[in-house]
Amino acid sequence: MLVKSSEFFKNLPPKKCTECGKEIEEQHECYGNTCHNCLKVTY
Ligand SMILES: [Zn+2]
Repeated sequence: MLVKSSEFFKNLPPKKCTECGKEIEEQHECYGNTCHNCLKVTY
């Protein structure tokens, strides 16, 4: 398959934090559906 990484990410919907509803910039799996800020608060 010759799919560019940029094209791949284009098809991915922007992650939104379930806590504050803010779009999550980081694509880390460990973050799940929670943004960095809310993770800190919950933790
Ligand atoms: Zn959040």
